[in-house]
Amino acid sequence: MTHDDRPFEIRPSPIQGVGVFATQHIPAGVRLIEYAGERLTPAAADARYPDVAGERHHTFLFAIDDDIVIDAAVNGNDARFINHSCDPNCDAVVDDGRIWIESIRDIERGEELAYDYAYILDERHTPAAKRRFPCHCGAGNCRGTILAKKR
Ligand SMILES: [Zn+2]
Repeated sequence: MTHDDRPFEIRPSPIQGVGVFATQHIPAGVRLIEYAGERLTPAAADARYPDVAGERHHTFLFAIDDDIVIDAAVNGNDARFINHSCDPNCDAVVDDGRIWIESIRDIERGEELAYDYAYILDERHTPAAKRRFPCHCGAGNCRGTILAKKR
């Protein structure tokens, strides 16, 4: 997919900062964009972005597995602007060591693309931890945090 015929654009978002919006109808099951960036070990990612107690956290990190983290702040693409939603229309799919954002339902023109970040911390997901990772997606089922429910 070239830059010009892709079915989305970047513009300001009511969720956070800028977001990615469909410029045409997108059916379910379309692989939209790779979540690109520098590949790091989790230790290198932690060293680059120390977690400051009590502060709101915002990075462009995405953990593929226990060994590889993608940092989209370095060599990333527009996928890093896709916001989190608790009622998402996209999902992040790991395929052969790469992350792809795919539509999981029909998306209307003008809808903001979003997927569930479902962050998992090493620490317990306490109310204080959840406040450092707030969600303002506005979905009816919003859980108030982009952290995953711990299993
Ligand atoms: Zn939410």
